[in-house]
Amino acid sequence: MPSPLGHALAGMAAAWAADLIPGRRAWRTAPATASWYQRAGDGLTMACAALGASPDLDLLVHHHRTVTHSIGATLVIAFVAAAMAASQSRPISRVTLMCAGAYLTHLLLDWMATDTYVPQGIQALWPFSQSWYISGWDLFRQTARLHPLTAEEIVQNVKAIALEIAILGPVALGVWLVRVKALAGLAAEMPRRDHPPE
Ligand SMILES: [Zn+2]
Repeated sequence: MPSPLGHALAGMAAAWAADLIPGRRAWRTAPATASWYQRAGDGLTMACAALGASPDLDLLVHHHRTVTHSIGATLVIAFVAAAMAASQSRPISRVTLMCAGAYLTHLLLDWMATDTYVPQGIQALWPFSQSWYISGWDLFRQTARLHPLTAEEIVQNVKAIALEIAILGPVALGVWLVRVKALAGLAAEMPRRDHPPE
């Protein structure tokens, strides 16, 4: 299964990909003079990166790749994102898609990865099914976490992270470049569009 870094990168790319959808998105941009953090979509993009990595928090409760790695958990995230967007007068469908999409990338990456722990894969359809799903593609390497400070596991994890960056880096960069073009010009309209009359 991929590392938190690879998952966070995918979550961030999902947030930027959602920005490519036309509509009320001027609030997602910032002038060229703004900081990188603001231009990248600030807190919401960071939240999507965290959402991308968050399903693996289930390691703390020793129920790995079950409930948190499912369509059921994704629906809960979507509901919470919609409620938060509504409370902050942000476009509900856009924020919901962004957050649920970022969360869903985790399931997708795990499904495409090598898994050496049985049962292999994720309980993707929980609560509708308890079955485990994995593609068998082994696109991403297994990360080690039992003895992460030993030389053997450090090498294993460095190799895994390098592969994740080699695959996901160009995807994120590509989405970023298209996003810069798509949002160009919208920043100037931001004050007017930020809180438009509904
Ligand atoms: Zn996972």
